[in-house]
Amino acid sequence: MVGEKLVRFELDQTIKYGRLVGETIKVLEGNIFGDYQENGETIALDAVKLLAPCEPSKAVCVGLNYRKHAAELDFKLPEEPLLFLKPSTSVIGNNDNVVYWPMVGRLDYEAELVVVIGKKAHDVEEKDAMEYVFGYTAGNDLTARDLQSKDGQWSRAKGFDTFLALGPAIVRGIDTSDLKVQTLLNDELKQDGSTEQLIFSIPFLVSYISKIMTLLPGDIIMTGTPDGIGPMQVGDTVEVRIESVGSIFNKVVAYK
Ligand code: MG
Repeated sequence: MVGEKLVRFELDQTIKYGRLVGETIKVLEGNIFGDYQENGETIALDAVKLLAPCEPSKAVCVGLNYRKHAAELDFKLPEEPLLFLKPSTSVIGNNDNVVYWPMVGRLDYEAELVVVIGKKAHDVEEKDAMEYVFGYTAGNDLTARDLQSKDGQWSRAKGFDTFLALGPAIVRGIDTSDLKVQTLLNDELKQDGSTEQLIFSIPFLVSYISKIMTLLPGDIIMTGTPDGIGPMQVGDTVEVRIESVGSIFNKVVAYK
C-alpha cells in the first residue's frame, strides 16, 4: 500500500506489528509478509517501545555504492557490487544504544537506505525485482573503521552486536529514485547524499544478490552510504535521516 508505515513494537512484554498513522499505532494481526489486517486496537506511539521493524535472517550490505564514498576511502570504483553480510545479532532499533566495544579503535556511522524483502527471491531478473521489495527503512551500518582496514575481510569490523540500527518503520510504495540520505551527529549534519547517486540500483541489487543467495521475507539489503563518514565518541547521539522514510536515533555508550 502506497505510503503505508509499519512498525514492530513491544508493549507489556508482547511484540506486535502495527500500522503507524500519525502518532497512533493501529495494531495488526497476521503476517506482514503475507496476510494481515487491523484488529481494531489502537495504541499511542509514545506508549510503546519501537523495535527494529523486521528480523532479518541476514543483512546483505553493499560496500562502495556511492562514487564519492569510494573516493574518500581511496578505494577503486567497483565493477560489480561489493557485498558483505552483517549478522542478525547485530540488529538494534530506534533509541537503542550502540556499544563502543573494547576491540574497536574508531567507530563510524554510515547512513543507508535499507530495502526490506517481502517474498522469497531466488534467481530473480532485474525486470521482476521490484515485486520482491516489500518496503524501505532507515539504517545505520555501524563500522569499526580501523578494523575494516586492518582485516581485509569485514566480518569483524561490521559484525559487532549493536552495529546495525534499523527503523523506525517500514515504509511502503514510495519512489526511492532521489531521496536524501543524511547523518546528523549531535544534530550536526555530517552526511548529505541522495539515492540518485547510487552506482548500482535497487532492482539491479535485488537481482544480483538473488543469483548468489536466496533472499527471505524480512531479509534486508543495505544499499551503501554516501560520502561524509566519520567517527563517533561515547555520549554522541547519531541520527540517520532518510527522506520520506524517517529517522533512526541511537546513542553511543561505553562498554560496561
Ligand atoms: Mg555501509
